[in-house]
Amino acid sequence: MRVLLLLSAFLVAVNSQKTFIGDQVLRITVNNEEQLALVSSLQEQEHLNIDFWLEPSKPLLPIDIQVPREHVQSVKALLEFNGVSYSTLIEDLQALMDEEEKEMVLSHHKERNSQTFNYASYHTLDEIYTWMDSFVASSSGLVSKLQIGTTFENRPIYVLRFSTGGVNRPAIWINFGIHAREWISPATSLWFANKLVSEYGKDSSVSSLLNTMDLYLEIVTNPDGYSFTHTNNRMWRKTRSNHAGTSCKGVDPNRNFDANFGGPGASGNACSSTYYGPYVNSEKEVKAIVDFVTNHGNFKSFIDVHSYSQLLMFPYGYTSTKPKDYNELMELSKKSITALASVHGTKYRYGPILTTIYQSSGSSIDWAYDQGIKYAFCFELRDTGRYGFILPANQIIATAEETYVGLMEILDHVRLNPY
Ligand SMILES: [Zn+2]
Repeated sequence: MRVLLLLSAFLVAVNSQKTFIGDQVLRITVNNEEQLALVSSLQEQEHLNIDFWLEPSKPLLPIDIQVPREHVQSVKALLEFNGVSYSTLIEDLQALMDEEEKEMVLSHHKERNSQTFNYASYHTLDEIYTWMDSFVASSSGLVSKLQIGTTFENRPIYVLRFSTGGVNRPAIWINFGIHAREWISPATSLWFANKLVSEYGKDSSVSSLLNTMDLYLEIVTNPDGYSFTHTNNRMWRKTRSNHAGTSCKGVDPNRNFDANFGGPGASGNACSSTYYGPYVNSEKEVKAIVDFVTNHGNFKSFIDVHSYSQLLMFPYGYTSTKPKDYNELMELSKKSITALASVHGTKYRYGPILTTIYQSSGSSIDWAYDQGIKYAFCFELRDTGRYGFILPANQIIATAEETYVGLMEILDHVRLNPY
């Protein structure tokens, strides 16, 4: 009886996970404004349930869309009829997710047997929170855990503080996983955190950095959303909040900051994946960052880590006006991606958000920059679309290794150029 009950509980848990059998991801390249308008108009056709993995921005920049199985043929026919070129990036999304799930189950089994944490695997929120405590305990006092808020669903929001002492030292902020489905971002942060502890006292850059500055890592910036991607919908991007008068849940936290809030490149439709929310900082996850960074008052760098596309970007996303530090940020970006590429040959593009990816209002780094935090950057990690958000776990370590080198190039520069 007990076995049966357990079994049925397991089945219920499995059944609540949305499946994507036969869903395809298409890479669209539009050649002119007319084709761009046509593809953009698919966003308004809600019955098609198309999920934009890469939003339309301008001709020649790729647009990736996830199309439900039942609409694949008609969407392809529409594109062909209008002479819009596309290729199929992912033939069956569910097949990739099944691979991912299989890998996690296998890895968890190994972790349980060996009592070690496998940085080369993806983990659930509970597993990451458990890891945090043992990581902090084994860091010889270098790392502490702070709670900076609670989520809409009442989960604690944590940051890891790396500090060797001093009072209100200049500091660096890096947050990961603000978009729930971008699993490679938190996975990279775990490896990065561990790398910093193991290199402190050995590597001169890490040692100098932590001897003069404090570093704050927000490992899972959107805990409700992240948890939801493991239990209900792997493709969830937003928070899980409910706001009065809206029929859909969740706000895009990276459109909810006070940086031309509600402007172009964000949606007022609560059902859109880029919904900016009912008001500035309406999301508790966003408010927690804003309050913490503002109250601290001595942040010199603010970095927000996403996936995918292999980009390193800086302000602005909401305006084509160049930031006053444009030349320095351009040069530093180039240095960072060159160093990053030297590790595994991974090529990044770089530049201001608006010209590099698309216009976006209400983003975290635009807000940070407008607060006077000069070194504001946003990474889009691997890949360029072969797997998109479902990056196989066997790429976690390589991604983390190269990102570490790219990040250290920036952090070195921040340390050596006080302002
Ligand atoms: Zn993102």
